Amino acid sequence: MQSISELGDLRGKRVLVRSDLNVPLDGSTITDDGRIRASAPTIKALSEAGARVIVCAHLGRPKGTPEDRYSLAPVAARLGEVLGSDVTFATDTVGESARAAVDSARDGDVVLLENLRFNAGETAKTDEERAEFAGQLAGLADVFVSDGFGVVHRKQASVYDVARLLPSAVGGLVETEVGVLKRLTEDPERPYAVVLGGAKVSDKLGVIDNLLQTADRLLIGGGMVFTFFAAQGYEVGKSLLEADQVDKVKGYLDQAKERGVEIVLPVDIVAATEFSADAEHDVVPAGAIPADRMGLDIGPESGVLFAEKLADCRTVFWNGPMGAFEMEPYAAGTAAVAKALVEVTAKGALTVVGGGDSAAAVRQLGFEDDQFGHISTGGGASLEYLEGKELPGLTVLDETGGATGGSDSTEDHA
Ligand code: ADP
Ligand code: MG
Repeated sequence: MQSISELGDLRGKRVLVRSDLNVPLDGSTITDDGRIRASAPTIKALSEAGARVIVCAHLGRPKGTPEDRYSLAPVAARLGEVLGSDVTFATDTVGESARAAVDSARDGDVVLLENLRFNAGETAKTDEERAEFAGQLAGLADVFVSDGFGVVHRKQASVYDVARLLPSAVGGLVETEVGVLKRLTEDPERPYAVVLGGAKVSDKLGVIDNLLQTADRLLIGGGMVFTFFAAQGYEVGKSLLEADQVDKVKGYLDQAKERGVEIVLPVDIVAATEFSADAEHDVVPAGAIPADRMGLDIGPESGVLFAEKLADCRTVFWNGPMGAFEMEPYAAGTAAVAKALVEVTAKGALTVVGGGDSAAAVRQLGFEDDQFGHISTGGGASLEYLEGKELPGLTVLDETGGATGGSDSTEDHA
Protein backbone atom coordinates (compact mmCIF):
# COMPACT_ATOMS: atom_id res chain seq x y z
CA MET A 1 0.00 0.00 0.00
CA GLN A 2 1.50 3.34 -0.93
CA SER A 3 0.96 6.78 0.56
CA ILE A 4 0.03 9.90 -1.36
CA SER A 5 3.62 11.09 -1.16
CA GLU A 6 4.67 8.07 -3.21
CA LEU A 7 2.40 9.05 -6.10
CA GLY A 8 5.01 11.52 -7.32
CA ASP A 9 4.40 15.02 -8.62
CA LEU A 10 0.66 15.61 -8.64
CA ARG A 11 0.69 19.02 -10.29
CA GLY A 12 -1.92 19.01 -13.03
CA LYS A 13 -2.97 15.44 -12.28
CA ARG A 14 -6.63 14.62 -11.92
CA VAL A 15 -6.90 12.86 -8.57
CA LEU A 16 -10.09 10.99 -7.71
CA VAL A 17 -10.52 10.87 -3.92
CA ARG A 18 -13.03 8.54 -2.29
CA SER A 19 -14.04 10.29 0.92
CA ASP A 20 -16.64 9.42 3.51
CA LEU A 21 -18.94 12.45 3.62
CA ASN A 22 -21.98 10.53 4.83
CA VAL A 23 -23.11 13.08 7.41
CA PRO A 24 -26.39 13.12 9.30
CA LEU A 25 -28.88 15.60 7.81
CA ASP A 26 -32.02 17.22 9.12
CA GLY A 27 -33.64 18.23 5.83
CA SER A 28 -30.72 19.97 4.15
CA THR A 29 -29.05 21.00 7.43
CA ILE A 30 -25.93 19.05 8.39
CA THR A 31 -26.30 18.12 12.06
CA ASP A 32 -22.75 16.79 12.51
CA ASP A 33 -19.98 17.76 10.08
CA GLY A 34 -17.34 15.52 11.71
CA ARG A 35 -16.78 13.42 8.59
CA ILE A 36 -16.40 16.54 6.43
CA ARG A 37 -13.82 17.98 8.82
CA ALA A 38 -12.01 14.64 9.00
CA SER A 39 -11.89 14.38 5.19
CA ALA A 40 -10.71 17.92 4.55
CA PRO A 41 -6.96 17.55 5.32
CA THR A 42 -6.37 14.98 2.55
CA ILE A 43 -8.35 17.03 0.04
CA LYS A 44 -6.51 20.18 1.05
CA ALA A 45 -3.11 18.51 0.81
CA LEU A 46 -3.87 17.25 -2.70
CA SER A 47 -5.11 20.67 -3.76
CA GLU A 48 -2.03 22.35 -2.33
CA ALA A 49 0.11 19.85 -4.24
CA GLY A 50 -1.43 21.25 -7.42
CA ALA A 51 -3.74 18.35 -8.18
CA ARG A 52 -7.18 18.77 -9.70
CA VAL A 53 -9.09 17.10 -6.92
CA ILE A 54 -12.24 15.15 -7.77
CA VAL A 55 -13.99 14.08 -4.60
CA CYS A 56 -16.55 11.28 -4.68
CA ALA A 57 -18.72 10.11 -1.80
CA HIS A 58 -22.13 8.72 -0.91
CA LEU A 59 -24.90 9.97 1.33
CA GLY A 60 -27.56 7.80 2.88
CA ARG A 61 -29.05 4.82 1.12
CA PRO A 62 -30.62 5.84 -2.19
CA LYS A 63 -31.53 2.86 -4.35
CA GLY A 64 -29.34 3.48 -7.38
CA THR A 65 -31.26 6.47 -8.76
CA PRO A 66 -31.16 10.20 -7.90
CA GLU A 67 -33.26 11.36 -4.95
CA ASP A 68 -33.18 15.00 -3.92
CA ARG A 69 -33.06 14.31 -0.22
CA TYR A 70 -29.79 12.42 -0.65
CA SER A 71 -28.06 15.09 -2.72
CA LEU A 72 -24.53 15.99 -1.67
CA ALA A 73 -25.19 19.67 -2.50
CA PRO A 74 -25.31 20.75 1.17
CA VAL A 75 -22.08 18.83 1.76
CA ALA A 76 -20.36 20.67 -1.11
CA ALA A 77 -21.21 23.98 0.53
CA ARG A 78 -19.95 22.89 3.94
CA LEU A 79 -16.81 21.32 2.47
CA GLY A 80 -16.03 24.65 0.80
CA GLU A 81 -16.36 26.42 4.14
CA VAL A 82 -14.12 23.91 5.89
CA LEU A 83 -11.49 24.08 3.13
CA GLY A 84 -11.75 27.83 2.89
CA SER A 85 -11.99 27.60 -0.90
CA ASP A 86 -14.64 27.05 -3.56
CA VAL A 87 -15.86 23.56 -4.27
CA THR A 88 -17.44 22.97 -7.68
CA PHE A 89 -20.43 20.70 -7.34
CA ALA A 90 -21.28 18.36 -10.22
CA THR A 91 -25.00 17.57 -10.33
CA ASP A 92 -24.32 14.05 -11.55
CA THR A 93 -21.61 11.50 -10.75
CA VAL A 94 -20.13 10.44 -14.07
CA GLY A 95 -22.37 12.29 -16.54
CA GLU A 96 -22.18 15.55 -18.42
CA SER A 97 -22.00 17.77 -15.37
CA ALA A 98 -19.18 15.72 -13.85
CA ARG A 99 -17.18 15.70 -17.07
CA ALA A 100 -17.64 19.42 -17.58
CA ALA A 101 -16.58 20.18 -13.99
CA VAL A 102 -13.48 18.02 -14.32
CA ASP A 103 -12.57 19.42 -17.74
CA SER A 104 -12.72 23.00 -16.54
CA ALA A 105 -10.89 22.35 -13.26
CA ARG A 106 -7.54 24.06 -12.90
CA ASP A 107 -4.61 22.96 -10.75
CA GLY A 108 -5.61 23.07 -7.10
CA ASP A 109 -9.36 23.15 -7.81
CA VAL A 110 -11.74 20.86 -5.92
CA VAL A 111 -14.77 19.24 -7.54
CA LEU A 112 -17.35 17.21 -5.62
CA LEU A 113 -19.35 14.67 -7.64
CA GLU A 114 -23.00 13.97 -6.83
CA ASN A 115 -23.87 10.97 -4.63
CA LEU A 116 -22.18 7.79 -5.88
CA ARG A 117 -25.20 5.74 -4.87
CA PHE A 118 -27.40 7.54 -7.42
CA ASN A 119 -25.78 4.96 -9.71
CA ALA A 120 -26.78 1.32 -9.33
CA GLY A 121 -23.26 0.24 -10.29
CA GLU A 122 -21.77 1.61 -7.08
CA THR A 123 -23.18 -1.09 -4.81
CA ALA A 124 -24.03 -3.72 -7.45
CA LYS A 125 -23.51 -7.31 -6.43
CA THR A 126 -22.05 -8.43 -9.76
CA ASP A 127 -18.44 -7.64 -10.59
CA GLU A 128 -19.42 -6.65 -14.13
CA GLU A 129 -21.90 -3.97 -13.10
CA ARG A 130 -19.51 -2.52 -10.55
CA ALA A 131 -16.59 -2.63 -12.96
CA GLU A 132 -18.58 -0.72 -15.56
CA PHE A 133 -19.35 2.12 -13.16
CA ALA A 134 -15.80 2.04 -11.79
CA GLY A 135 -14.58 2.42 -15.35
CA GLN A 136 -16.64 5.57 -15.75
CA LEU A 137 -15.26 6.97 -12.51
CA ALA A 138 -11.71 6.06 -13.46
CA GLY A 139 -12.24 7.78 -16.80
CA LEU A 140 -12.48 11.09 -14.96
CA ALA A 141 -9.07 10.79 -13.32
CA ASP A 142 -5.40 9.85 -13.54
CA VAL A 143 -4.88 8.52 -10.02
CA PHE A 144 -7.04 7.34 -7.14
CA VAL A 145 -6.77 8.08 -3.43
CA SER A 146 -8.76 5.92 -1.03
CA ASP A 147 -9.63 8.02 2.00
CA GLY A 148 -13.15 6.95 2.98
CA PHE A 149 -12.42 4.91 6.06
CA GLY A 150 -16.14 4.42 6.79
CA VAL A 151 -16.49 2.42 3.56
CA VAL A 152 -13.23 0.44 3.28
CA HIS A 153 -15.08 -2.67 4.46
CA ARG A 154 -17.35 -2.46 1.41
CA LYS A 155 -16.57 -4.08 -1.92
CA GLN A 156 -18.05 -1.22 -3.90
CA ALA A 157 -17.13 0.39 -7.21
CA SER A 158 -15.64 3.58 -5.76
CA VAL A 159 -13.85 1.73 -2.97
CA TYR A 160 -12.63 -1.47 -4.52
CA ASP A 161 -13.04 -1.71 -8.29
CA VAL A 162 -11.71 1.73 -9.15
CA ALA A 163 -8.48 1.01 -7.25
CA ARG A 164 -7.78 -1.76 -9.74
CA LEU A 165 -8.10 0.60 -12.68
CA LEU A 166 -5.93 3.53 -11.58
CA PRO A 167 -2.62 3.97 -9.79
CA SER A 168 -3.81 4.15 -6.21
CA ALA A 169 -2.72 5.37 -2.82
CA VAL A 170 -4.13 5.36 0.68
CA GLY A 171 -5.21 8.74 2.05
CA GLY A 172 -4.06 10.29 5.29
CA LEU A 173 -7.35 9.73 7.11
CA VAL A 174 -7.39 6.01 6.39
CA GLU A 175 -3.73 5.82 7.44
CA THR A 176 -4.51 7.49 10.76
CA GLU A 177 -7.56 5.33 11.42
CA VAL A 178 -5.70 2.11 10.69
CA GLY A 179 -2.78 3.25 12.85
CA VAL A 180 -5.05 3.73 15.85
CA LEU A 181 -6.89 0.45 15.36
CA LYS A 182 -3.58 -1.39 15.13
CA ARG A 183 -2.83 -0.21 18.63
CA LEU A 184 -6.07 -1.85 19.77
CA THR A 185 -5.38 -5.18 18.13
CA GLU A 186 -1.63 -5.46 18.66
CA ASP A 187 -0.94 -5.77 22.35
CA PRO A 188 -3.34 -3.21 23.86
CA GLU A 189 -2.49 -1.86 27.30
CA ARG A 190 -4.68 -3.54 29.92
CA PRO A 191 -7.28 -3.48 31.30
CA TYR A 192 -8.87 -3.21 27.86
CA ALA A 193 -12.62 -2.61 27.78
CA VAL A 194 -14.99 -2.55 24.82
CA VAL A 195 -18.34 -0.80 25.10
CA LEU A 196 -20.95 -1.88 22.57
CA GLY A 197 -24.36 -0.39 21.92
CA GLY A 198 -26.43 1.05 19.10
CA ALA A 199 -29.10 -0.43 16.94
CA LYS A 200 -27.36 -2.61 14.34
CA VAL A 201 -27.65 -5.54 16.65
CA SER A 202 -27.01 -8.55 14.46
CA ASP A 203 -24.04 -6.82 12.77
CA LYS A 204 -22.43 -6.12 16.08
CA LEU A 205 -23.12 -9.40 17.81
CA GLY A 206 -20.69 -10.98 15.37
CA VAL A 207 -17.82 -8.89 16.72
CA ILE A 208 -18.20 -10.27 20.20
CA ASP A 209 -16.76 -13.61 19.21
CA ASN A 210 -13.45 -11.99 18.45
CA LEU A 211 -13.55 -9.48 21.29
CA LEU A 212 -13.88 -12.29 23.80
CA GLN A 213 -10.34 -13.23 22.79
CA THR A 214 -8.83 -9.78 23.16
CA ALA A 215 -10.78 -7.62 25.61
CA ASP A 216 -10.82 -7.93 29.40
CA ARG A 217 -14.24 -6.38 29.82
CA LEU A 218 -17.26 -6.07 27.59
CA LEU A 219 -19.89 -3.48 28.50
CA ILE A 220 -23.17 -3.90 26.68
CA GLY A 221 -25.80 -1.18 26.25
CA GLY A 222 -28.07 0.19 23.53
CA GLY A 223 -30.37 -1.98 21.49
CA MET A 224 -28.30 -5.15 21.75
CA VAL A 225 -28.72 -5.40 25.46
CA PHE A 226 -32.18 -6.92 25.16
CA THR A 227 -30.90 -9.94 23.32
CA PHE A 228 -28.56 -10.47 26.29
CA PHE A 229 -31.44 -10.00 28.71
CA ALA A 230 -33.51 -12.53 26.78
CA ALA A 231 -30.57 -14.94 26.95
CA GLN A 232 -30.78 -14.62 30.73
CA GLY A 233 -34.49 -15.29 30.69
CA TYR A 234 -35.64 -11.73 31.29
CA GLU A 235 -38.83 -10.27 29.84
CA VAL A 236 -37.89 -7.42 27.44
CA GLY A 237 -41.34 -6.09 26.52
CA LYS A 238 -41.40 -4.19 23.24
CA SER A 239 -37.63 -3.56 23.23
CA LEU A 240 -35.37 -4.28 20.25
CA LEU A 241 -34.79 -8.03 20.28
CA GLU A 242 -33.07 -10.39 17.89
CA ALA A 243 -34.86 -13.55 18.94
CA ASP A 244 -32.87 -15.75 16.56
CA GLN A 245 -29.61 -14.59 18.15
CA VAL A 246 -30.48 -15.54 21.71
CA ASP A 247 -28.72 -18.91 21.55
CA LYS A 248 -25.61 -17.33 20.12
CA VAL A 249 -25.58 -14.83 22.98
CA LYS A 250 -25.97 -17.65 25.51
CA GLY A 251 -22.86 -19.15 23.95
CA TYR A 252 -21.01 -15.86 24.34
CA LEU A 253 -21.95 -15.65 28.01
CA ASP A 254 -20.57 -19.16 28.60
CA GLN A 255 -17.41 -18.44 26.61
CA ALA A 256 -16.83 -15.23 28.54
CA LYS A 257 -17.02 -17.12 31.81
CA GLU A 258 -14.51 -19.70 30.59
CA ARG A 259 -12.08 -17.08 29.36
CA GLY A 260 -12.42 -14.83 32.38
CA VAL A 261 -13.81 -11.95 30.31
CA GLU A 262 -16.16 -9.80 32.36
CA ILE A 263 -19.45 -9.03 30.63
CA VAL A 264 -21.11 -6.00 32.20
CA LEU A 265 -24.82 -5.59 31.55
CA PRO A 266 -27.08 -2.72 32.66
CA VAL A 267 -28.85 -3.18 35.99
CA ASP A 268 -31.60 -0.70 35.21
CA ILE A 269 -33.33 0.52 32.05
CA VAL A 270 -35.33 3.56 30.99
CA ALA A 271 -38.53 1.96 29.70
CA ALA A 272 -40.94 3.99 27.55
CA THR A 273 -44.41 3.30 26.18
CA GLU A 274 -43.24 4.09 22.64
CA PHE A 275 -40.27 5.28 20.58
CA SER A 276 -40.90 8.96 21.20
CA ALA A 277 -39.48 11.79 23.28
CA ASP A 278 -42.94 12.50 24.70
CA ALA A 279 -43.71 8.91 25.67
CA GLU A 280 -44.33 8.06 29.28
CA HIS A 281 -41.09 6.57 30.64
CA ASP A 282 -39.68 5.24 33.92
CA VAL A 283 -36.53 3.66 35.24
CA VAL A 284 -37.11 -0.03 35.94
CA PRO A 285 -34.83 -2.85 37.11
CA ALA A 286 -33.24 -4.71 34.19
CA GLY A 287 -35.21 -7.84 35.01
CA ALA A 288 -38.55 -6.09 35.23
CA ILE A 289 -39.30 -4.37 31.92
CA PRO A 290 -43.10 -4.22 31.64
CA ALA A 291 -44.56 -6.10 28.66
CA ASP A 292 -45.97 -2.89 27.14
CA ARG A 293 -42.73 -0.89 27.42
CA MET A 294 -39.55 -0.64 25.37
CA GLY A 295 -36.10 -0.01 26.80
CA LEU A 296 -34.65 3.16 25.26
CA ASP A 297 -31.65 3.84 27.48
CA ILE A 298 -29.59 2.29 30.23
CA GLY A 299 -30.68 3.62 33.64
CA PRO A 300 -28.75 5.89 36.03
CA GLU A 301 -27.39 3.06 38.21
CA SER A 302 -26.05 1.41 35.08
CA GLY A 303 -24.39 4.68 34.09
CA VAL A 304 -22.55 4.69 37.42
CA LEU A 305 -21.66 1.00 37.09
CA PHE A 306 -20.32 1.44 33.55
CA ALA A 307 -18.25 4.47 34.62
CA GLU A 308 -16.73 2.40 37.44
CA LYS A 309 -15.86 -0.39 35.05
CA LEU A 310 -14.09 2.07 32.74
CA ALA A 311 -12.26 4.12 35.38
CA ASP A 312 -9.17 1.89 35.66
CA CYS A 313 -8.92 0.95 31.98
CA ARG A 314 -5.84 1.74 29.90
CA THR A 315 -7.56 1.06 26.58
CA VAL A 316 -11.23 1.56 25.67
CA PHE A 317 -13.03 1.09 22.38
CA TRP A 318 -16.62 2.30 22.22
CA ASN A 319 -19.08 1.71 19.42
CA GLY A 320 -22.80 2.40 19.59
CA PRO A 321 -24.83 4.76 21.76
CA MET A 322 -26.22 3.41 25.05
CA GLY A 323 -29.71 4.59 24.17
CA ALA A 324 -31.84 6.54 21.73
CA PHE A 325 -29.73 9.61 22.56
CA GLU A 326 -31.30 11.73 19.80
CA MET A 327 -34.25 12.13 22.19
CA GLU A 328 -33.32 14.01 25.33
CA PRO A 329 -35.03 11.65 27.83
CA TYR A 330 -32.88 8.77 26.56
CA ALA A 331 -29.48 10.47 26.28
CA ALA A 332 -28.19 10.17 29.85
CA GLY A 333 -26.67 6.68 29.51
CA THR A 334 -24.66 7.71 26.46
CA ALA A 335 -23.57 10.88 28.26
CA ALA A 336 -22.43 8.85 31.28
CA VAL A 337 -20.25 6.61 29.13
CA ALA A 338 -18.87 9.58 27.18
CA LYS A 339 -17.95 11.31 30.43
CA ALA A 340 -16.25 8.17 31.73
CA LEU A 341 -14.19 7.95 28.53
CA VAL A 342 -13.18 11.58 28.79
CA GLU A 343 -12.01 11.04 32.38
CA VAL A 344 -10.01 7.94 31.61
CA THR A 345 -8.48 9.69 28.56
CA ALA A 346 -7.28 12.46 30.86
CA LYS A 347 -5.59 9.75 32.94
CA GLY A 348 -3.61 8.65 29.89
CA ALA A 349 -5.70 5.79 28.53
CA LEU A 350 -6.13 5.28 24.80
CA THR A 351 -9.81 5.77 24.00
CA VAL A 352 -11.40 5.28 20.60
CA VAL A 353 -14.98 6.16 19.70
CA GLY A 354 -16.15 4.50 16.50
CA GLY A 355 -19.38 4.78 14.56
CA GLY A 356 -21.26 7.55 12.83
CA ASP A 357 -23.98 7.83 15.44
CA SER A 358 -21.60 7.40 18.37
CA ALA A 359 -19.39 10.23 17.08
CA ALA A 360 -22.43 12.40 16.47
CA ALA A 361 -23.69 11.57 19.97
CA VAL A 362 -20.58 12.70 21.81
CA ARG A 363 -20.54 15.97 19.89
CA GLN A 364 -24.26 16.53 20.33
CA LEU A 365 -23.79 16.00 24.06
CA GLY A 366 -21.27 18.83 24.08
CA PHE A 367 -17.98 16.95 24.19
CA GLU A 368 -15.00 18.03 22.09
CA ASP A 369 -13.17 15.68 19.74
CA ASP A 370 -9.86 16.22 21.54
CA GLN A 371 -11.29 14.95 24.83
CA PHE A 372 -11.02 11.46 23.34
CA GLY A 373 -7.98 9.63 22.02
CA HIS A 374 -9.51 9.20 18.61
CA ILE A 375 -12.95 9.59 17.08
CA SER A 376 -13.17 7.17 14.21
CA THR A 377 -15.22 8.08 11.16
CA GLY A 378 -16.05 4.44 10.58
CA GLY A 379 -18.28 2.26 12.73
CA GLY A 380 -18.71 -0.89 10.67
CA ALA A 381 -15.21 -0.57 9.24
CA SER A 382 -13.55 -0.23 12.63
CA LEU A 383 -15.51 -3.18 14.01
CA GLU A 384 -14.58 -5.37 11.07
CA TYR A 385 -10.95 -4.35 11.48
CA LEU A 386 -11.07 -5.32 15.15
CA GLU A 387 -12.67 -8.61 14.15
CA GLY A 388 -9.60 -9.29 12.06
CA LYS A 389 -11.65 -9.39 8.87
CA GLU A 390 -10.12 -8.49 5.56
CA LEU A 391 -11.25 -5.05 4.44
CA PRO A 392 -11.61 -5.12 0.63
CA GLY A 393 -10.83 -1.41 0.28
CA LEU A 394 -7.49 -1.94 2.03
CA THR A 395 -6.51 -5.28 0.50
CA VAL A 396 -7.05 -3.93 -2.99
CA LEU A 397 -4.51 -1.20 -2.26
CA ASP A 398 -2.01 -3.83 -1.16
CA GLU A 399 -2.63 -5.88 -4.30
CA THR A 400 -2.37 -2.95 -6.66
CA GLY A 401 0.28 -1.10 -4.68
CA GLY A 402 3.13 -2.61 -6.66
CA ALA A 403 1.55 -2.02 -10.04
CA THR A 404 1.10 1.69 -9.61
CA GLY A 405 4.29 2.77 -11.26
CA GLY A 406 2.47 2.47 -14.59
CA SER A 407 2.92 5.97 -15.87
CA ASP A 408 1.00 5.16 -19.07
CA SER A 409 -2.27 5.99 -17.44
CA THR A 410 -0.96 9.11 -15.76
CA GLU A 411 -0.23 11.32 -18.72
CA ASP A 412 0.08 14.91 -17.77
CA HIS A 413 -3.03 17.02 -17.94
CA ALA A 414 -1.37 20.25 -16.92
P1 ADP B 1 -23.10 3.66 15.23
O1 ADP B 1 -23.54 4.50 14.06
O2 ADP B 1 -22.40 4.47 16.27
O3 ADP B 1 -22.33 2.46 14.81
P2 ADP B 1 -25.67 2.34 15.33
O4 ADP B 1 -25.94 2.84 13.97
O5 ADP B 1 -25.53 0.88 15.52
O6 ADP B 1 -24.41 3.10 15.96
O7 ADP B 1 -26.84 2.74 16.30
C1 ADP B 1 -27.21 4.06 16.58
C2 ADP B 1 -28.67 4.17 16.88
O8 ADP B 1 -29.04 3.26 17.91
C3 ADP B 1 -29.08 5.52 17.38
O9 ADP B 1 -29.84 6.16 16.37
C4 ADP B 1 -29.93 5.24 18.63
O10 ADP B 1 -31.13 5.96 18.65
C5 ADP B 1 -30.21 3.76 18.49
N1 ADP B 1 -30.45 3.09 19.78
C6 ADP B 1 -29.62 2.99 20.83
N2 ADP B 1 -30.19 2.32 21.84
C7 ADP B 1 -31.43 1.97 21.42
C8 ADP B 1 -32.52 1.25 22.01
N3 ADP B 1 -32.44 0.78 23.25
N4 ADP B 1 -33.62 1.07 21.27
C9 ADP B 1 -33.70 1.55 20.00
N5 ADP B 1 -32.71 2.24 19.40
C10 ADP B 1 -31.59 2.44 20.09
MG1 MG C 1 -25.15 4.26 12.67
